[in-house]
Amino acid sequence: MKKRIAVLGATGSIGKSALDVISRDPDSFEVVLLSAHTGKENLDILKKKFPCALPVLTSEEGGKDKLLSALADTAPDITVNGISGAAGLEPTIAAINAGSHVALANKESIVMAGQLVKRLAEEKRKNIIPVDSEHSAVFHLLRYFTNKEFNHGVTRREEEVHLIRPHTETQRHKEHGVIQREEDTVKEIILTASGGPFRNLSLNELENVTVKDALAHPTWNMGKKITIDSASMANKGLEIIEACVFFNMPSSKVKAVIHPQSIVHSMITLCNGVIYAQLSKPDMRHPIHDALYWPVTTPSRLETISFDSLCLEFYKPDTNKFPMLNLAWKAAEKGALYPCVYNSANEIAVSAFLEEKIKFTDIPKITEHVLEADWSGNCLDLETVLKTDKEARNKAINLIS
Ligand code: NDP
Ligand code: MG
Repeated sequence: MKKRIAVLGATGSIGKSALDVISRDPDSFEVVLLSAHTGKENLDILKKKFPCALPVLTSEEGGKDKLLSALADTAPDITVNGISGAAGLEPTIAAINAGSHVALANKESIVMAGQLVKRLAEEKRKNIIPVDSEHSAVFHLLRYFTNKEFNHGVTRREEEVHLIRPHTETQRHKEHGVIQREEDTVKEIILTASGGPFRNLSLNELENVTVKDALAHPTWNMGKKITIDSASMANKGLEIIEACVFFNMPSSKVKAVIHPQSIVHSMITLCNGVIYAQLSKPDMRHPIHDALYWPVTTPSRLETISFDSLCLEFYKPDTNKFPMLNLAWKAAEKGALYPCVYNSANEIAVSAFLEEKIKFTDIPKITEHVLEADWSGNCLDLETVLKTDKEARNKAINLIS
């Protein structure tokens, strides 16, 4: 039977990559729902290409609610959430409530309300498969090399587990009568970061960078917001929080390393001191493919890397130049609503930078200032999360004006 797929943010970078993966295998997938925000013309083109899909334009009057009810009505098997920013949170929740697994690119869903989203997925027995390339790498590395499963909802059938992990750590433990606490196996998660276009600039030079400079990402071709976040390293900050929440790791065990080639997507260090890494071309169709076919590994026909002339470099990130990193570690450590606020304040600051209202180096200053308030509330209820998001945005807007 074909899997019925919803692609949210279909007109964006992730959306286009997802539709490309889906189009390569019409026997396995059928698109049932497509959403766009402002891209009406592009949505019209997609409507012709995927005639069975229900199109929703969320910028229209009532468009957001239309999308939430369309998710309930179409009840997709998998929802690819490629919406950018905080606007992705409610659709993630609506998708799980509609009985859909989620292939999640929208990291903001986890950063803003990860505990809530994970708890809901567990309740509804639905899986959240990360599409963010680093988290996809960690998700699969943990699955292959440890007894950790982060599929939140569905427990796999025994024979399925055998098929995917012929000799799992759990089975080894059983066979050898070893008892090991799960949390001891993974020593740390190492997220790789390209370092963005400014990794070699000095702090002084950073003061004068333009929007055009910040949008020129050296390795990835992505939407505007995430491209600016890559330049300020707020993207890695969001991903540090995403990893802590998604994989239940303390912030001290989630590291970041600059890797300009973006070939190694992330690594895990196990308690035996061995590090496992996942490598592929920097092409988001890889993690999307893996999420859509999960739990089965299938041929992708995507280009593989060649080792003929491959040079991989790794550096320590400069946290003085990129304060968004330390702010993220602190927000992750504090928990509660701090991660949500980190995202809200940064979103406002990035918009202001794109509108040339503030300097690039003001982005962390604004975020830090907003985070200084007391945000120690309950992050398990959607109403509180949305109210906090609004409050933090208002604080950031006031600072800017
Ligand atoms: P894009 O800006 O390219 O696309 C965003 C999509 O979301 C578009 O379809 C846009 O519609 C839609 N959208 C924008 N605002 C809203 C809104 N308020 N409500 C509903 N839909 C909206 O972003 P990306 O594809 O780059 O990123 C999407 C998400 O995936 C982000 O969370 C990002 O962090 C994450 N991600 C992206 C990666 C990448 O390589 N691009 C890598 C890893 C994660 P329209 O264009 O029609 O206005
Ligand atoms: Mg990423």
